[in-house]
Amino acid sequence: MRITDIRETSVALKSSLRNAAFDFSEMTTSVVAVITDVVREGGPVAGFAFNSTGRYACGAQMRERFIPRIVKAPPETLLNGRGDNLDPEKVLACMMQREKPGGHTERSVAIGTIEVAVWDAVAKIAGKPLYRVLAEKYNRGRAAKRVPCYVGGGWYEPGKGVGDLQDEIRARLDLGYTTMKIKVGGATIPQDMKRIEASLKVVRSGNRLAVDANAAFDRARALAYAKALAPYELRWFEEPCDPLDYALLADVAHDYEASLATGENLFSTQDVQNLVGYGGLRADRDILQMDVPQSYGIVQLSRTLAMLERRGWGRKSVFPHGGNQMTLHIVGGFGLGGCEAYPGVFGPFAGFADDARVENGTINLPDRPGIGFEAQNALYAVMRALIN
Ligand code: MG
Repeated sequence: MRITDIRETSVALKSSLRNAAFDFSEMTTSVVAVITDVVREGGPVAGFAFNSTGRYACGAQMRERFIPRIVKAPPETLLNGRGDNLDPEKVLACMMQREKPGGHTERSVAIGTIEVAVWDAVAKIAGKPLYRVLAEKYNRGRAAKRVPCYVGGGWYEPGKGVGDLQDEIRARLDLGYTTMKIKVGGATIPQDMKRIEASLKVVRSGNRLAVDANAAFDRARALAYAKALAPYELRWFEEPCDPLDYALLADVAHDYEASLATGENLFSTQDVQNLVGYGGLRADRDILQMDVPQSYGIVQLSRTLAMLERRGWGRKSVFPHGGNQMTLHIVGGFGLGGCEAYPGVFGPFAGFADDARVENGTINLPDRPGIGFEAQNALYAVMRALIN
């Protein structure tokens, strides 16, 4: 068996949303298909993935380096020991040939997206949902049935008032979610505190509301927000500053007793190791949010989790960025803390299978082989076009 082709395309998210740091008007994502010569149900098995949201499409790196390396490799060098399936660890190593250490983001998104698509193919060839394959390999077979899931939302939009924000949250609670995350930092502190108080009236408890500053704050503003937010004892305060500014993050953690969250803008095990080593974060309460397809993929996540475990961090502290089916399977398979959701935003790239059920803040894991993008009609239309 072999990979016969890998195809990619760039798709626009077409979103009018804005957070504290940037708007999404030019945002794109790369969609990837890894096509094999294995035949199931009358056609070749293809694995799919996309590079989540918030980082631009990265087709140039895929086309110039990573896809040619895989397609040129002798097929048997990419297979598992039994020769009956692809081995994602070997595919990752193949893509990393002749890559200089460090400087991760230039390639981690391209590599991670292809790697996750390989896993989709692996699970389809095995005839199992991806989360089961991951649970067997990385979690002693313990697969979750349902995964805790919170809503990322509360973006700033033209003309959107506090009442509209409350309506947004109510609509999410009506879908079965219990916990909401809203953006902060795109307004003044008094305005944002009004938004938080209005949101708390709807969710009814500080531990059901998180806030996200998208790494937009300088030192003065990060510390001022930490002080203003402290009395609310929120579920978490996300990205108060650049995640690589360990000194400032440690100062925020020193002043802010409740949970902090960060990591969606870190792309390597080494970056996360530095974050927990020097950023003042606390394993008993803080949350790590690395986006898996953006940070080299699933094999590398297993290495990051092992590094974290050696430093006293449990898997339940990890809530990967990216409200999509890839993240859902990864959280369920590895037994991580939970998953994000963005119902109704980011077009076809948000959300889960069309028949997914949200109940009491949890979402069910699908039973289809692979990641199951085939049950997400709008997104699968984009993916299917790649293989026809
Ligand atoms: Mg965030």
